[in-house]
Amino acid sequence: MARLLQIAQLGHPVLRKRATDVEDVQNPQVHSLIDDMLLTVSDANGVGIAAPQVYESKRIFIISSRPNPRYPYAPEMEPTTMINPEIIGKSLDTEKDWEGCLTIPGVRGLVPRHKAIAVSYVSDQGETVETKYSGFIARVFQHEFDHLEGIVFLDRLESTKDIVMEKEWLKMIAQRESVA
Ligand code: ZN
Repeated sequence: MARLLQIAQLGHPVLRKRATDVEDVQNPQVHSLIDDMLLTVSDANGVGIAAPQVYESKRIFIISSRPNPRYPYAPEMEPTTMINPEIIGKSLDTEKDWEGCLTIPGVRGLVPRHKAIAVSYVSDQGETVETKYSGFIARVFQHEFDHLEGIVFLDRLESTKDIVMEKEWLKMIAQRESVA
């Protein structure tokens, strides 16, 4: 049975460490951690979660994008576990858009990211996958990858004026969508 995990909050040193590679993808402990992360990210209305956010300094994250109360306009994507992920290519173009983080609750920031990336990762079945992402999913990948490097989105802001509180952001987004 999967368990709901505690989410580390900004200030905890685990969020600032470089996470270590997973050597044995078939290890049952790795699989039970992944099951727990899947439950935890869904319960928290996240669109992604990285192992350091649940106090495990391992190179694993999950992308599970879907519309939810924290991200009303997120695209739908089957939850995908990525082990030992790498960014193997990136577009020169960057764009700024809003991000939040389960370890920094209540805050949103306008973060510059590469628009498109080529990545590789090992799946929970132990297969190496190479693929490309653009837009929101590319953004989530870069955000989660940063967690494995001990980086949070606040580190990437161009200005502290690009920070807003989630409550105001939700109002802003609702207005933007009703105009569009
Ligand atoms: Zn985060």
